[in-house]
Amino acid sequence: MTAQIETGNAAGPTGRHRVVVVGCGFGGLEAVKGLAGAAVDITLVDRRNHHIFQPLLYQVATASLATSEIAWPIRELMRGRPEVETLLATVNGVDAAGRRVLLVDGGSLPYDTLVIATGARHAYFGHPEWEPFAPGLKTLEDATRIRRHILLAFEKAERESDPKEQDAQLTFVIVGAGPTGVELAGTIAELARDTLPPDFRNIDTHRARVVLIEAGPRVLAGYPEDLSDYARRSLENLGVEVELGRAVSECTAEGVTYGDRHLAARTIVWAAGVRASPAAEWLGVTADRAGRIAVQPDLTVPGHAEIFAVGDTVTVAGPDGKPVPGIAPAAKQEGQYVAGVIKARLEGKAPPAPFRYKHAGSLAQIGKRLAVIDFGWIKLKGAIAWWLWGIAHIYFLIGVRTRLMVAINWLWIHTRNRRSARLITQGRTPDDETPG
Ligand SMILES: Cc1cc2nc3c(=O)[nH]c(=O)nc-3n(C[C@H](O)[C@H](O)[C@H](O)COP(=O)(O)OP(=O)(O)OC[C@H]3O[C@@H](n4cnc5c(N)ncnc54)[C@H](O)[C@@H]3O)c2cc1C
Repeated sequence: MTAQIETGNAAGPTGRHRVVVVGCGFGGLEAVKGLAGAAVDITLVDRRNHHIFQPLLYQVATASLATSEIAWPIRELMRGRPEVETLLATVNGVDAAGRRVLLVDGGSLPYDTLVIATGARHAYFGHPEWEPFAPGLKTLEDATRIRRHILLAFEKAERESDPKEQDAQLTFVIVGAGPTGVELAGTIAELARDTLPPDFRNIDTHRARVVLIEAGPRVLAGYPEDLSDYARRSLENLGVEVELGRAVSECTAEGVTYGDRHLAARTIVWAAGVRASPAAEWLGVTADRAGRIAVQPDLTVPGHAEIFAVGDTVTVAGPDGKPVPGIAPAAKQEGQYVAGVIKARLEGKAPPAPFRYKHAGSLAQIGKRLAVIDFGWIKLKGAIAWWLWGIAHIYFLIGVRTRLMVAINWLWIHTRNRRSARLITQGRTPDDETPG
């Protein structure tokens, strides 16, 4: 049994104001960074021991990068911050009246100020039964599970004598053509066309079908139409079959049904729809359809001036009146803003102006050489966009070692088509054996 973490007073051992931050994703980490130098004791709780750079998760899922190149132990990130206590624990409630965060193991954490940054998970539009057949991508475990599934499909096809089953093994379906779906589809197509062919003797991996299914009328729906169009054509040039305007109505072990069609496929990846963490339920406040807390303009939870919530688990209006998008820069800006409000309160200063989101741009990669970027004031596509995409992503990684490793890996992929993370891990199970 984990030691009970419980103290009677809200103030920490030092008697200073105690801030509990739940979640060390983009929003939570930025809040903790922003509180550096403030007269606070911080407890940072996460159910995982690492911070993940989610924008590159698909590269782990497609064997392009290793897990340690896109994730960092939280304790290491907090090494130089003696006022920050890092706890590996899962939160399952908040006692707002008693000002305590409740933990699954029965412990609780007192706070003066609470920052909730617990993000979102993929959602299946009311069909959770599809999840085992169409896993989504959110964690390192998801990424290595998908990688395993993709690589095992090629292995099974190599040993398969029934041509129908071989076709099903070599059919890879991605549901949802947002940035993640587009990036996954392009990279799986390149894996099959460029990286794997010399490795197999019985199958021609060029035969692999990569099918990107989208219920809406275009890929990258949040981008300007000309960039969406460019992305679709670029995917098709890579051999991806783009199926637009057809909603998925069933995912099973056999394959996927969409519109009036059924496709036998042994690998389906879900990249459509997200649902916020249950933070709104913990606090008993109203949520939108995706479960997000509608926070106040200063990012506090309605009715709780001492509780802030940021990132994918909230909704807040942007300067254009539309909800701020669920992307990393928004979570980071919200985390920074909340740190500023907490500091101002502690120093007895006037509260900062309401949160104002600044959109820097939207970027998506299409295979290893192309990308699309919408900065609002300028749109870029093709190789130049890819270089900018690469530089921006390397810049946002943490630490020199990781940046160098990722840059070298990309150079290797770019020039030699080598993806060195082609590892089938997490053991074999009886259902991994080729039938017959
Ligand atoms: C595959 C994928 C690709 C993406 N690509 C991009 C992109 O290219 N560009 C972009 O800007 N954005 C991208 N995003 C979105 C971006 O990653 C999110 O908007 C951002 O991570 C939100 O930050 P957050 O802090 O709200 O949540 P997260 O970063 O998800 O962090 C939430 C943290 O809370 C922890 N947690 C959750 N529940 C609990 C609990 N009960 N107890 C304890 N800890 C808990 C989690 O372990 C996690 O560490 C992508 C997301 C995904 C999944």
